[in-house]
Amino acid sequence: MRYKITLKNETHLVTKDLKRFIKRCLEEFNKYYFIKHNYSHRLHVKILHKKIANWIGGYAYLNSRTMEIRIPRNFKQIDATLSGRSINGIPSTLIYECAQMIFHELEHCEGKHHKQMRNHWKNPYPIPWANDYIISYKEPSTKQIKTPDMKLSKKLLSLENRKNNWESKLRRAQNALKIINRQTNYYTNRMAALSENKQ
Ligand SMILES: [Zn+2]
Repeated sequence: MRYKITLKNETHLVTKDLKRFIKRCLEEFNKYYFIKHNYSHRLHVKILHKKIANWIGGYAYLNSRTMEIRIPRNFKQIDATLSGRSINGIPSTLIYECAQMIFHELEHCEGKHHKQMRNHWKNPYPIPWANDYIISYKEPSTKQIKTPDMKLSKKLLSLENRKNNWESKLRRAQNALKIINRQTNYYTNRMAALSENKQ
């Protein structure tokens, strides 16, 4: 069965990796838990950065096919931060927690309230496959933002360089003409001398 996901990724995590991972979450969830919804239908997932806390968060409407997963902004360090932490004895990683969160939200999508659900911190969903996945991080572009005065001084510098180029070409042209004129005079004089001698 093929699962279709519409993924809106507002993080620096690589979209292709996320999609592959969420697809697997969906397959596993469908296999072991609930099949009320037909998840061959589209699931809408939005991944974004959480502004402050270190915890992964999530949100899903009851009986929906829409969820939001919020990842801490410092998630690059979060594996280190969380390495001291464990969920029921299992060392925690970003991917592991992400999977727990997605499963939790999928239960909401199935119409379940917290009372009816497992506490995934105390009783985590079994996801031994979680560590087979890698979600890589794309460095944000470090392109400098150019201020108006930076643009102007760059323009002025380029004009200065062009002016220097043409001035040096002009000096070379003037020198070349000087030499040509001198030689023209020399050979004109010799020509004159030659014709004088003939007479
Ligand atoms: Zn919840």
